[in-house]
Amino acid sequence: MHEVDMTKCLVLSMNEWRQQHEPSLPVVSQVHLQVGDFTCVEPEQLVHTWRIAIQNSWLAGAELKIEQIPLVARCVCCNSTYSPSADQAYQSPCCSHPMEDIVSGRELRIRSVDYSLNPELAPLSA
Ligand SMILES: [Zn+2]
Repeated sequence: MHEVDMTKCLVLSMNEWRQQHEPSLPVVSQVHLQVGDFTCVEPEQLVHTWRIAIQNSWLAGAELKIEQIPLVARCVCCNSTYSPSADQAYQSPCCSHPMEDIVSGRELRIRSVDYSLNPELAPLSA
């Protein structure tokens, strides 16, 4: 997946998240993202596109913090877990079985959001 498309998805997710807080306006300082090593995402590139995307938006100034999740697979022959590598064509080292069951490494999710609610921006309740 391309980082620009991914950033659009992130911003959309954040917009939905924001709607849950209406009518208060959350001020976001950090967005903690989990990115699996098997997603082919360049974290630095993602941070870069994120910064550009949020300029002049309600998210301006929010930092993207990326936690990388290692690729772990489970061997379907013997049920042991292993760290697949491209050098070994992602086969299991125990049984040389092709990678079928990925335990982790494909994550792309917002884990948490650091924010504060600015009461001055919230409209008075009727
Ligand atoms: Zn095995």
